[in-house]
Amino acid sequence: MTGEPQDDCLFCKIVAGQIPATIVRETDTTVAFRDINLQAPTHVLVIPKAHHKDAAALAAEAPQLAADVLRETQAVADDEKLDSYRIVFNTGSGAGQTVWHAHAHVLGGRGLEWPPG
Ligand code: AMP
Ligand code: ZN
Repeated sequence: MTGEPQDDCLFCKIVAGQIPATIVRETDTTVAFRDINLQAPTHVLVIPKAHHKDAAALAAEAPQLAADVLRETQAVADDEKLDSYRIVFNTGSGAGQTVWHAHAHVLGGRGLEWPPG
């Protein structure tokens, strides 16, 4: 069923507490934790607790949950005192997606070039 935890999913394991992560925020429906491979002074991933394979699937299958994730990106930015930041949803392997559980990268704390690479 859509949204059910997947045995082979790294981020479902973080949600379940089976893999350690530096969690910075948690709500009933979301978890936010620091990326292990920082691309900026602030680099936090916000994920839905439920498994959806990417941002598009999340928005189609659980729009309220997609809104929860977006709201949490702003909460992370507030906690980190960022007035400018970037939200990235890599979608598809050609765009750099490596974990197939929807996640928002929140990047900030340095100047961010536009367009991105
Ligand atoms: P993406 O490439 O957009 O799918 O993003 C996946 C992100 O997950 C990458 O930035 C990785 O550095 C990050 N990542 C992978 N494993 C972990 C982990 N155990 N804890 C925190 N972040 C992770
Ligand atoms: Zn998952």
